[in-house]
Parts: sequence; C-alpha cells; structure tokens
Amino acid sequence: MDLEAIKRLLRSPRPSDEYLAGVKGFLDFAYMGKKADTKIHCPCVKCVNRFLLKRDDVYGHLVCDGMLLGYTVWGCHGETAAYISANKRKRSKGERKNLNSNMHQLVHDAFGNVDNEPPVNDRDGPNRLEPGPDSETQAFFDLLGGEDVPLWKGCELSKLSFLVLLFNIKSTNKWSNKSLNDLLAVLQQAIPNGKKLPRTFAEAKKIIGKLGLSYERIHVCEQDCQLFWKEKESDDFCSICGKSRWKNTPDKTTLTKKERRKASPKKVLRYFPIKPRLKRLFMHKETAAALRWHDEERTKDGALRHPADSEAWKHIDSKQLRQK
Ligand SMILES: [Zn+2]
Ligand SMILES: [Zn+2]
Repeated sequence: MDLEAIKRLLRSPRPSDEYLAGVKGFLDFAYMGKKADTKIHCPCVKCVNRFLLKRDDVYGHLVCDGMLLGYTVWGCHGETAAYISANKRKRSKGERKNLNSNMHQLVHDAFGNVDNEPPVNDRDGPNRLEPGPDSETQAFFDLLGGEDVPLWKGCELSKLSFLVLLFNIKSTNKWSNKSLNDLLAVLQQAIPNGKKLPRTFAEAKKIIGKLGLSYERIHVCEQDCQLFWKEKESDDFCSICGKSRWKNTPDKTTLTKKERRKASPKKVLRYFPIKPRLKRLFMHKETAAALRWHDEERTKDGALRHPADSEAWKHIDSKQLRQK
C-alpha cells in the first residue's frame, strides 16, 4: 500500500476498519528500519508529536484521540524531502505517460469556466460587491474561448492544447525553431483543417504567449546604478555615473526621438511580475487548493509548526488580507 492510500484511510471516520488499517499502515511506515521497542513521536491530537511513546501507546492514542489534523507529510516519522523525491523518481515513468492528459487537464482547468458561466464572482447575482475578472484575465479567457475549439470535428485536441503539446515536445527534445517551422508546414497539409494551424513557430508563439506569462524588459545602467524606469524611463544616460544607456553612444548624451528608436540598450533586466503568476496559479484547480491550504486546512491549535503559524505571517495577513 502506498503512502497516499494510507493517508486516505486515515481520513475515514474513526474507529472504522479503514481508519484502523490507516493507523497500522502509518505505524508500519514509522517503524521501517526501527526496532519494535523504539519510541517514536506520537502524532495524535493531544501529543502533537511532542512526546516519545512506544508503538502500542501510539496506536492507542491514534485510535482514541485521532491523528493530528493537517499532519499530512510525516516529517517526524521519516517522510523527508529525500524520501518524497526518491518516491517521485520511482513514479516518474508512469507520470510521463500521463503528461499528455495532464497538459490537456491544465489547459482545460483554465478553460472550464469559459463554456459555462463567467469565471468568477457571479454566485451572488447582480448585487455582488466584488468585481468580475479584470481586463487582463478577461483577455485570457477570451483567448481560451477563441482557440479552444476542436481541431476538427471529433478531434480530442483543441487548437490551443495541440499547440501547447507541440511546444512541450519542442522544448523537451530541444528542437530548433526551424524544425518546428518545417513540421508545421507539413501538418498544414497533412491533417484536416491544417490550414487553421499557425504557419510558423513565430505565429504559434504569439498564440501560446498569451497563455504563458510574459516578462517586462527594463533597461539598466551598465554599472547597475539605476533602472531606466518610472521617472527615469526616458533618460538616455545614468543619472549617477553618467554612462550612456545605449550601445555605441557617448556618455552623458541625449538622443533625439528618431535616434532612440534605433538605439539598442547596453543592459536589460527581465522582470517577471508576480501578480499575473499568482492569478494563473489560482486558475488551476489543484494548485489553487494547494495555495489555499495554509488557511483552509492547516491545523490552527496555537502550536507552531508551519510558517503560517508565525507572527510574521499573521502580521502580513492582518495588513494585506483584511483591507477589503
Ligand atoms: Zn499521543
Ligand atoms: Zn550608472
């Protein structure tokens, strides 16, 4: 029985047979490579891993009091990061097989809402207080609505998920841009409605680019004194060291508009804004659940065992979350 199965059993009502089997599975795991009379941390609701007990006592506590809620990664009992990653590696072959359907799922989680209703905040009817999706999110859903039609009647793949898969193959196998161009040219002729596909990698990238997350390019002084940003966005040289922002341009020189359009920057910072990334994470069912775990599923009994129990986290919550 794998750990996930045991953990599922432990979520059954106590003291059912399923729950007892879960407790046994847990103890077998905790005692792997240990002598039978070793004492282990008791993960029951009352001991909260603070006390070392014998196997029989831990069993008794888990049956009578129940397992600590939210103790899902058994860190006190040998389920370390190394253990988890070793197990993942074992599983990865099967996972790879599922890659295609996962990719499909990912695209579909995001699309799911498009077919039915507007994606967010429509539950409370017209008098709702919170606004609907902002323009950027709406544009994303529009894109999904437009591109998420089957490639041809009866085809399981939509144009968009097809392109996502193709891009995935391209990057995992390190195909050149040209090889993808060549493939697209053949596909255009080979499959029904092939003409609907983009003709080149660049065209495909435009469509996929809206799905993915772009970054901002911000020019930087070559000596890293400052960013050419906000009030300094249209400066031509660094206000601190005087070095020119542009290649092949003397320092402390201001360019004309025309010259600026042709100039190329000496140094560029790529900035990946966090907000759109968080939004995208919340659009996916599973990652959204993981992101909400700290509030919805974490045991809140005053004991300190997760960063979310800390004063710092609470401070951020009180500052940011309540300002609605
Ligand atoms: Zn206990
Ligand atoms: Zn500078």
